[in-house]
Amino acid sequence: MFGNINDKYNRFGGIKSTPNFHYEPEFESILPKENSIKNQLLLYKPLSKIRGVGIGNATTNKLAKLNLFSIKDLLYHFPRTYLDLSKVKKICDVKEGEEITIIGVVKRVDKSRTRSRKNLLKIFIWDKTGYITGIWFNQNYIADILKKGTFVAYSGVVKYKFNELQITNPLYDILDIKSERNQIHTGRIIPKHPSTAGISTKNLRRIFSKILSKYGVLPEPLPNKIKIRQDFLTSLSNCINQIHFPGSFSSLKISKNRLIYNELFFLQLGLALRKKSQTIDLKSVVMDVDKSKIEKFIKSLSFNLTAAQKKVINEIKEDISKPIPMNRLLQGDVGSGKTVVALISMIISSLNGYQSAIMVPTEVLAWQHFKNFKKMLKKYPFEVLLLSSSTLPSEKLKILKQIKEDGNQIVIGTHALIQEKVIFSNLGLVIVDEQHRFGVTQRKRLKSKGKYPHVLIMSATPIPRTITQTMYGDLDVSIIDEMPPGRGSVETRLFHPGEREEAYNLIKSELNEGRQAFIICPLIEDSDLLKVKSVIKEAEELKQVVFKEYNVEILHGQLSSKKREEIMQRFENKELDVLISTTVVEVGIDVKNATVMLIENADRFGLSQLHQLRGRIRRGEHKSYCILFADLKTDEAFKRINSFLKTEDGFELANKDLEIRGEGEIFGDRQWGIPDLKISSIVRDKEILEKSRKDAFSIIKNDISLSSPITKVLINFLNFEYPDNKFWQI
Ligand code: ADP
Ligand code: MG
Repeated sequence: MFGNINDKYNRFGGIKSTPNFHYEPEFESILPKENSIKNQLLLYKPLSKIRGVGIGNATTNKLAKLNLFSIKDLLYHFPRTYLDLSKVKKICDVKEGEEITIIGVVKRVDKSRTRSRKNLLKIFIWDKTGYITGIWFNQNYIADILKKGTFVAYSGVVKYKFNELQITNPLYDILDIKSERNQIHTGRIIPKHPSTAGISTKNLRRIFSKILSKYGVLPEPLPNKIKIRQDFLTSLSNCINQIHFPGSFSSLKISKNRLIYNELFFLQLGLALRKKSQTIDLKSVVMDVDKSKIEKFIKSLSFNLTAAQKKVINEIKEDISKPIPMNRLLQGDVGSGKTVVALISMIISSLNGYQSAIMVPTEVLAWQHFKNFKKMLKKYPFEVLLLSSSTLPSEKLKILKQIKEDGNQIVIGTHALIQEKVIFSNLGLVIVDEQHRFGVTQRKRLKSKGKYPHVLIMSATPIPRTITQTMYGDLDVSIIDEMPPGRGSVETRLFHPGEREEAYNLIKSELNEGRQAFIICPLIEDSDLLKVKSVIKEAEELKQVVFKEYNVEILHGQLSSKKREEIMQRFENKELDVLISTTVVEVGIDVKNATVMLIENADRFGLSQLHQLRGRIRRGEHKSYCILFADLKTDEAFKRINSFLKTEDGFELANKDLEIRGEGEIFGDRQWGIPDLKISSIVRDKEILEKSRKDAFSIIKNDISLSSPITKVLINFLNFEYPDNKFWQI
């Protein structure tokens, strides 16, 4: 076995060329030696306290701009790209379409303007066998870097155009070709670390080289069992060394995969711990499910539940009838009918004598839930209460007293629910609606209002399954994957600014059919009174001129809540034809007779926001229309609006959103308290994610008491890995 591994090891190209190559025997115990703990601590030493690696005060400040403060930060500041100077071609041998690296000297720099008024920069280099041109648009600053006479490497795909060999946006690097000593810069694969003003990549490279040779030996975090299973034949130290200064592209790839695994493994380990801490040893209330009573309620609905809704309700019933807290995520596209699922769960809680609370992001939605729930539960012997920041003080006091003393109420509320003075006597079930609008701490605070309440989190943002597992790794997931039958379709159209009249006519023709319309103006911040005025002004004009024959009202956050409720009520009662509104109606609102929505400045909204907005008019059996006015100046706005026009499918839109904005933007720290990923991508690295998840979860599952030495070491590593974000303790 050993021989075999050594064989493989020998084939692990390039490692030997790393100057500070360090090989740790694969089968030694992973228990930390004293010195590895010391090593770990050392990693967090501030760069300002470190001598002998060429980092002075000025450099420390510049590195701080890159968020690099400690040795560990540096070791994990990975190159973005690599230039392969180990295989340089001669220009005379270059063929069109090839991806190549060449080295030459800058001979000419041309600046001009294109017909579309972009700055065009051409920099010609010569290598004694021919010329090649680097092309840049709107990046004239590069002319200051690649001056005439500089030795430079270009890397990229070659095109033959206008009698020239060209590379557009080549990767470039200035070389110190004459200096033979400068081995870290030439003759090999050279890294390009993300840099900042004041530090050249070359300088950074020097710093990295020194840091690695001094501090590049890291304690090995993975148990041998896993290393063998995953075929990791080298140590973490080697991988870190290789990723900064690869000996070959194959060793780079292997090292990268191992580092990706490492990062995802510790993420999943944290989630496994989180899940364990939320279930094991916690005694939640056991809820009995009285089938006939629930059936009776379901029969009283004006529709039949979809198969998906039934399935999800069963999953919830099963969870809450166990003495461990439910911790479930319910995913279902906008309009798929999540509210009734929440309501049924809350009824079960009340029937069992426990309180339940649902937190929603807006007052308008809280009010709507309140009104609907109250109506549907008229005959039931428990109360429905509303708690929002606009609840009158006297009323609020009464409600607070009521829920503190006793009862089995259903409480609906906004953020007001998580205020300190809100105390429940026996909260058995907690529901968070539209989870994307809340942060992880807000959810935690609501949960902490009960002892170990069952928790249901609802989300209309559909995301791929593997991602769900990562982001919600500690949750069980239920999915409503079908829409209630009989929904009309939505036609989405982008109108030219000159086609306003046509757009208004389309709205009018719907109104004349007895339907209603929303007109949405972009978000208005509470503080932004000036803008409110301008929206109001515009709206007044629509009211008095364009739609003067119709009943029009304006809804926005500056109105008193009483006024808002009154307007919503009139809209629902069909007393109003047109509701001009800010995004206060973005989530949840349900008015079936509304079939047109006009969205002004649609480019200012994100894809999921647009999808939520459009969801307001996809509720009844009638065909509906979504009219957009947008300024498509930026590429991103263009892509966003284009995707929105093409599909209504929330799943597809979520994928597009991911593609356009990138996962970092979407799964930020705030919502789930998950640390930023440095090298892995949960979208791209799906397979490694699955493997690491299995490994991490099985370790915790097989050692529930967390007492084995391996678990202890791993948790110790987790603490070192994320000293500032103990996400597994949330
Ligand atoms: P969301 O999942 O976006 O919260 P809602 O719960 O607001 O969706 O439901 C959207 C609309 O569909 C509501 O008017 C609701 O009454 C209705 N609805 C829910 N379930 C069904 C069903 N099974 N059949 C028909 N209509 C339904
Ligand atoms: Mg909803």
